[in-house]
Amino acid sequence: MAKKDRYAVFGNPIKHSKSPRIHKMFVEQTNQQMEYTAKEVPAEKFFTAVTDFFDHGGKGLNCTLPLKELAFDFADEKTERAEICKAVNTLAVKANGKILGDNTDGCGLITDLKNNRVDIKNARVLLLGAGGASRGILAPILEQSPRHLILANRTRKKADDLAEEFHLYGFVDGSGFAELKGKKFDLIINATSASLYDEMPPVESGILAENGVCYDLAYGNRPTAFVRWGAEQNARLSLDGLGMLVEQAAEAFYIWRKIRPDTKVVIDSLHAARRFSLDE
Ligand code: NDP
Repeated sequence: MAKKDRYAVFGNPIKHSKSPRIHKMFVEQTNQQMEYTAKEVPAEKFFTAVTDFFDHGGKGLNCTLPLKELAFDFADEKTERAEICKAVNTLAVKANGKILGDNTDGCGLITDLKNNRVDIKNARVLLLGAGGASRGILAPILEQSPRHLILANRTRKKADDLAEEFHLYGFVDGSGFAELKGKKFDLIINATSASLYDEMPPVESGILAENGVCYDLAYGNRPTAFVRWGAEQNARLSLDGLGMLVEQAAEAFYIWRKIRPDTKVVIDSLHAARRFSLDE
């Protein structure tokens, strides 16, 4: 039997990661000779673990919380999109042996929004949160030419600093949460980690425009607090980040194997496994 190429996801915590399951489905679809495992790697052990992985023949890695900035530092070369957001979620061995760092999060979000027929062009967009995830998706959102993008964060200075850093890529303004009152948005994206604690960022009701869409980057086996809030605000769609997770994984899979898996069947299968509905 042919030897399987080795891939993995490193993060901390990692045991609830859906990535091994997603990649297993991609492998089954595409008949690749590869395996994909998950390993808990704390930040202080990252450089040793990643060096060991590649020294022992590993072909590619995904890096998740809290390792994306460290993966950026580790990579010998970076793609333009990784350079822009200064974070790497995908490492790949190049033909010359160098390690390439890329970031597929932004592309994953935009693809999932398009799959759900959410058009950013000319939309009034609100992005909540100014952490690593916002950093990864800001430029890809701005590339879609929204009418404007407001970046709101609990710690206002982080929103202002990030908006300043990305204003080269389009119209983006920093904000606190209180200043959002009275404004209207066609698309509200939650990139805070509040959902991980089943909390809602402190935004007022009434800021979602008619037919507006809510999108939470977080996902779980139940609707997140933000997804539930979106439904209460009569959002046309109130989605969580499961589709983005699958799409960013598919982009990483393509970087490694040069073959695109069918993401729809994987997303449908993960949705069916959760079987929740907002009416429950
Ligand atoms: P970070 O820790 O880097 O940033 C967290 C952000 O959330 C900060 O802006 C912080 O504000 C804000 N925050 C935390 N708690 C609250 C709260 N109770 N109210 C308001 N704001 C709050 O996390 P990441 O950016 O890496 O991740 C954010 C989310 O995105 C996570 O849920 C993660 O799982 C998800 N994600 C999903 C992906 C997918 O593929 N679906 C990919 C990447 C991320 P402050 O600065 O004031 O502390």
